[in-house]
Order: sequence, then structure tokens, then C-alpha cells
Amino acid sequence: MRKDLFFVVELTIYNMLFPMTNSTKRKLRELKLYRLSRALLVLDKDTILSFTRNRIREFLFKRPFTPMSVKTDKFMKVKKKAESIISYALANIVVATFTERAKTVYSDNIFSYYTFLLQSQRKTKIGVVANDMNIRTYLLNGSFFIYFTDYLRSTSGLGREYSFSIQNLDNGYVIIREKKRMATIVANRIRLQLKTILSREPEKIDIIKQLSSEFMADVLTEFPERRTVVRRALGKNIPPCIAIIMDKATKGVHLEHQERIALATFLIRKGYSDEDIHEFFKKQDDYKRRTTQYHIDWLRRNNYMVYGCKKMKTLGMCFPDQRCVAKNLKNPLQY
Ligand code: SF4
Repeated sequence: MRKDLFFVVELTIYNMLFPMTNSTKRKLRELKLYRLSRALLVLDKDTILSFTRNRIREFLFKRPFTPMSVKTDKFMKVKKKAESIISYALANIVVATFTERAKTVYSDNIFSYYTFLLQSQRKTKIGVVANDMNIRTYLLNGSFFIYFTDYLRSTSGLGREYSFSIQNLDNGYVIIREKKRMATIVANRIRLQLKTILSREPEKIDIIKQLSSEFMADVLTEFPERRTVVRRALGKNIPPCIAIIMDKATKGVHLEHQERIALATFLIRKGYSDEDIHEFFKKQDDYKRRTTQYHIDWLRRNNYMVYGCKKMKTLGMCFPDQRCVAKNLKNPLQY
């Protein structure tokens, strides 16, 4: 592996600063590190985890992320950079398990960080990053020329001053004169890319579950959107583990078998009617009324108990908040 990393490809500081660009992804592919599971096998897992924790802490709690400096031999430089880059991907997948508010704060902070970082770069460098983010751009006489479709795709969510209708155009290209505006557009493209990643269903690998549960109590306290949304609809005393499953269910996110059992047994034990329980499962892509009713009947008939907190933890479905900890809960029903 040392030989592979050392000779096949050289990762640069640029790749480390811009892990989301096409050229970085291409290099990771060349290094055969594009798949997270392989990267975690090949690289130093502890270092990746520590970078990932730092990224999440710093971007979620608004402290600027300082990329590590690399002062070791050439092989180690490549390796450390690869670990730093992989931590970006891993942090994103972990944040995808958080509340909607936490995801928004995270992507907004990344947007601010890259706006600031890009502003401090030369115009030519900003142009390079723009093209590397699929924003077709060229620089002429100090102005950026962005192909109009890419401009439209990259400015979604920015203020009225970025509205396409008021831009200067030249032959299908939008003209941007100020470096600051161009930096904002490229950073916004990074934010939009991130939003897509954060809306995907997280990969079900142990490391994601582990990192997710490490942060979940703080996330639910700081960014409690998920719980309040669900609680508004259902009243109080919904433990975070069940609130998260409910939230996924109401959004139509595919639930795993164990999540379905946890949710259905919880609702049954709390006295919800069959009709109410159906409501939670109606948005599942494989929902069939008869099959769902069969399972509800089976769980009721067999007096099936809600999984205990210990089992929920083993299944990676426990996200305790302060109340869980204070009451030292044994079962979500005690919440
Ligand atoms: S401690 Fe129990 S109630 Fe709290 S989140 Fe974990 S499984 Fe749910």
C-alpha cells in the first residue's frame, strides 16, 4: 500500500482544501480510496475519526475548521492528506443522520467557510475551483464569465442581487466582476452539493452509527427540530430514538425492519389505534395495507414488547438526550 499511495498519485493541498471537487474525487479513485469502506480499511481509522469529529464539532458549532499542516515525509504527506479528505466525506454522511436544523447550520457554516477561503485566493484559483465544481467559467480582463445554465444552478438560494434577470450577459455567459461575488457563487455551489449529500439516506456502516450516536444527544439539545415537529403532532413523551424513526416515517424515508418493529410496538403500547399506526407507515415505498395490518395484529396478539434501551443501542437506534441519561432509562416507554 505504501508503494501505491506514494507512486500512483500525489494528493495536493488543493485536494485537501477542496475535497468536494472533481479532481479530488478522481485522485481518490486512482488511489482506490473512493469507497469509504476501503478507505477506512487502508488508512489510519483513528486519524480519520479524529478529523471527522473535529469537522463536525467545528462546523456545527461555528468554529472555523483549520486543516492540518503536513510536515512529514512524502509518503506520510499523501497518507495524511488522504485521511483528511476522507474525513470530509465521512463527516457529511454522519451529519446526514442529524436533525434538519443541524444539517442547515452545518451546510451554512461550510458555505461561510468556503466563501471566506475563496475570497482570499487569486482570481485564477477561484476559476479553477469553479470549473472543478462543474461551473463552466473563464476569466477575461479580470472578469469571470460563467455559462448561464451553470450560473442558474449555482445561485439557487442566494439573494435577489444574484437574480439571473439583472445580470450582465455576454454570449450566454454571465459576467461577474467582483471576486467576492464569484467566491460566494462557488461556495454556494459547494453548499448545494452538500445539501444533496445530506438529504441522502446514510450508509449503514458501524462507524456512521457510532459517530452519529456520539453527537446525537448534543444535536437534539442544540437543534431540536425533529423532536418538536413530531411532538407537536403527537404530544409529549416521545423518546428521541422513536422520534427519529417517526420523523423518517413521516418523510417517507425507508425504514429498516427493526425500526418498523420499534415504532409499531411503541405505538401499540402507547394505545394508538391501528388507523393511527397505518398513518405512520403509509409513506413507505413498500406499504401495503393488508401486510401492515397483518404485522400490527401479530405484534398485538403476541404482546410484543418495545425493544429495551440496551437492545436499541446494539441496533444503533439509541440517541439518548439528557432526560434519557438522567432517568437512566431501561426502555423507551419509561421516557
Ligand atoms: S436511552 Fe432508551 S429511550 Fe433514550 S434514546 Fe436510547 S433507547 Fe431511546
